[in-house]
Amino acid sequence: MDAYIEFRNVVKKFDDFVALDHVSLQIPKGAFVTLLGPSGCGKTTLMRQLAGFSEPEEGDVLVDGKRMNGLPPFKRNTPLVFQEYALFPHMTVYENISYGLKLKKTPKEEKDRKVAEMLEMFNLQGLEGRFPKQLSGGQQQRVAFARALVMGQEILLLDEPLSNLDAKLRVEVRTELRQIQQKFGITTMYVTHDQDEALSMSDIIAVMRRGRIEQIGSPWEIYFRPANRFVADFVGTVNFLEGTARREADGSLSVDHMGMRLRVDEDTDLQGGEPVTLVVRPEGISLLGLEEPAPEGTALHGVIENYSFLGRMIRYWVRVGTEVFVIDDANVDLTGARTGDVQLRLDTRKLHVLKGGGADAAG
Ligand code: ATP
Repeated sequence: MDAYIEFRNVVKKFDDFVALDHVSLQIPKGAFVTLLGPSGCGKTTLMRQLAGFSEPEEGDVLVDGKRMNGLPPFKRNTPLVFQEYALFPHMTVYENISYGLKLKKTPKEEKDRKVAEMLEMFNLQGLEGRFPKQLSGGQQQRVAFARALVMGQEILLLDEPLSNLDAKLRVEVRTELRQIQQKFGITTMYVTHDQDEALSMSDIIAVMRRGRIEQIGSPWEIYFRPANRFVADFVGTVNFLEGTARREADGSLSVDHMGMRLRVDEDTDLQGGEPVTLVVRPEGISLLGLEEPAPEGTALHGVIENYSFLGRMIRYWVRVGTEVFVIDDANVDLTGARTGDVQLRLDTRKLHVLKGGGADAAG
């Protein structure tokens, strides 16, 4: 992979506090990369090293092979759009978008042409004479993106840019933003702590915790093949089943869990006898009646404790012995939710094995 943006062993400290602890990340040109992680894990700090608002104590930040360390923000071509997108309230859409061009004393014709391109790109035609307060939240957000990109930058840095929008609008704007990003091939670094946003928009997700990157991968890898228990837990609802690995005579892998032998299809180098943790997403388990046959090694018996009707699916909480499993059942029928005793059938293809038990389990 050719890196267009690269962080090499970046260390950032605030007094004794290590906010970034030897962070390395490579981003190919045109990719949409999301930094995902809990509050305070260092997402914004990492992005600021690239934008030039902060300098690392150690390590390098490179764009297109050139070292950025020490360059002021305006020489880096990496505009940053914050959560508070703060358009100038007394300026029209046209004036807001053209602000940077005006500072650069760009001739009027060129300015008009560039603004027109941005208006078209962000679907804002006809709104150029309006003031920010006459726009919807989504439109204001698009003006902020247009203002950031009008100078012809090829990199866009977005720090939780959608968090001021209501839930429905967020989904609309994120779809739109992703389409524009892909169409124009703008290399984008995006900060969020919202896993749905990260999964739906990104080419690559870097999951961070306490100043370190825990895993870099595609949304699919991060979701179905999390590197450890923290990542599995952070990127969605998950069931953890602790047990012991077992190598069958034919070389296949199974895991003994609560007196059951569960088959695992994943290819791993695990030895028999090792403690393991199975990672199972709620949609990796389905519900069956007690009378329905399930292949050996795929089912557990349980009792439905609770459910929540979500329209396109029902989320169930099912007790199996001392554990409660979360299950999303998409087979919603018109008669209502199931109750009582059931079998839980595990989709053996969707089981992921981590080595070790407890909080330390890792791939
Ligand atoms: P959030 O999702 O809450 O924005 P984040 O992952 O973006 O969190 P950062 O803003 O990067 O987190 O902060 C990482 C850590 O560094 C936090 O513990 C924060 O308190 C600390 N920190 C950030 N900036 C400074 C600063 N200028 N001085 C001292 N500590 C700082």
